[in-house]
This record gives sequence, structure tokens and C-alpha cells, in this order.
Amino acid sequence: MSTCECCGNAARGYLCTRHGDELVKNLLDLPGLYDEVGECLVPRRSTFGDIIPTRGSAGPRSPVNEDVIDTVNWGRACEVMRLWRGDVRRVRWPHRGAPPSGGLVEDCRWLARQRDWIVAAYPAAGDLAREVLELRRAAESVVGALEPRPQRLGNCVAVTGEGVVCGAVISRLPGETRLACPWCGYVYETAQDWALLVHFSPREAA
Ligand SMILES: [Zn+2]
Ligand SMILES: [Zn+2]
Repeated sequence: MSTCECCGNAARGYLCTRHGDELVKNLLDLPGLYDEVGECLVPRRSTFGDIIPTRGSAGPRSPVNEDVIDTVNWGRACEVMRLWRGDVRRVRWPHRGAPPSGGLVEDCRWLARQRDWIVAAYPAAGDLAREVLELRRAAESVVGALEPRPQRLGNCVAVTGEGVVCGAVISRLPGETRLACPWCGYVYETAQDWALLVHFSPREAA
């Protein structure tokens, strides 16, 4: 057992399951995020000297920050991910040449497909995970974070007045620790509540 390069938790390889999952998710989200960045900012040279936000008014989705356009853009994301793809390929298949041409979408997908090998055998896995996360954060500083999606946890285990289990679907946003059942109003807040909920909920077919 080794430890995760990102969090230090036990891992079978260079990344724990959570950080392996996070790496794949960040890789798959990057092209969409950078696409959106391109829609948010108009390059300085195409205007009269200022970045013109193309939508919305001043706010987190349209920073009028002169440096942002130079550092947060599709071209830079492409460059960085191309280098990572080249490096993973070089380490994994030393006798193959440079990676075939492809854009950000192909490079990110290709890297996501190498997840098992990266986690098991790529010594720079932690650096890759951190750099992909940085690219994600940089894009999100321009376009705002993607909506956090509610996680479906299971079915409400509270017993209602008639002695019947409620059974309503319980979902929560990442990080949410207290939640009332939308149907019966039972409040989930302790670790035991959550554990019961998960324990008694039918497993979804994996
Ligand atoms: Zn980890
Ligand atoms: Zn309920």
C-alpha cells in the first residue's frame, strides 16, 4: 500500500480512488470549461484596448482583468495538456514517437483513458492531477463553477405516523451535511442518520 500524491491517504499506486476519479472528471470537463472561457472574454487586440466581457455585467463571470486573457485561454490549456499527453506516452511506450495530432478534447480524453496506468505506474501522477485541477480552477475563475450536481444517496428511512417507511428520494449537494426529507421532513444531520440512509437503501445496479 502506498499513499496518494494528492492527499496522503492510502492508495494502490500514486493516487487514491477519490483523486483518480477527480482527475478523470477534471480532464473530461476541461474542454467544455475552456470553450466557455472563450465565449466570456474577447481578446484585447480585437478591441480598443480593454477586454470586453461578451455577456453579463461585471461580476465573477466577466472579470475585467487584463492578465486573465493571457493566462487563461484555450491555447494555453491545449499546450499544457499536449505536453502531458506526450509525457505519459513517452513514459508508457518509450519507443513510440510523438503523439498523433489532436486537440484539447482528444488529449484530455486520451489521458482520461490512461487512468489505470497513470494511477498504477506514472510517477508524475500527482503533478498531473494538480496541474489539471489548476487549469480547471483558472477557467472557473472566469466562467464560474459548474453547477454542483446533487448526489442521489438513497431513500428516506424515517418511519412515518402510520408505521410506514417514508422512502422519498434523498439527494444532497456535495458538502451538504444537514438536510430535511422533502416528503416527511425528517432531518438528516448526524453521521448515524446518513449511515442508516445508505445502509437501508437499495443498491443501484452498478
Ligand atoms: Zn487522494
Ligand atoms: Zn422522508
